[in-house]
Amino acid sequence: MNVQCCIFCKIIAGQVPCTKIYENEHVLAFMDAGPVSEGHVLVVLKQHTTRLDLTDPLEMAELAKVLPKLAGSVKDAMVADGYNVLCNNGSSAGQVVEHMHFHIIPRKENDGVFNQWPSFQYPEGKADTIAEKIRRNLTL
Ligand code: 5GP
Ligand code: ZN
Repeated sequence: MNVQCCIFCKIIAGQVPCTKIYENEHVLAFMDAGPVSEGHVLVVLKQHTTRLDLTDPLEMAELAKVLPKLAGSVKDAMVADGYNVLCNNGSSAGQVVEHMHFHIIPRKENDGVFNQWPSFQYPEGKADTIAEKIRRNLTL
């Protein structure tokens, strides 16, 4: 998918309508058209990147500046008990729209959304081995 056929770029450009929540020079927040729960909001950077790890950290900082207040306003407006902030990266992780975005999904106790959080235990030593691999790939 390129910028020309990216649905979120079209929304940002005003070529496709959206229900807008907030906009500034860098960021747009709007209602998700296929919500997981009522009040589900998407937050996008106006600059097109496909994934979080391909996003300029300084642009990401602009999103981070507004994310806490957006999350709070979603939670309060929906009288939610909590919320998930999600960023799906890659189709294996459930990403459908290849323009990096954050979901704010308001949650109620026992709402049945994301019922399972699959977790397991590492065998002895494996977490250390994996952590070392990750550290070797980290260039900060
Ligand atoms: P993803 O699975 O890529 O993390 O999430 C993409 C999200 O974008 C989905 O929740 C989907 O409902 C939403 N979405 C896809 N197309 C449109 C659209 O044209 N307008 C709006 N407002 N949301 C969209
Ligand atoms: Zn885009």
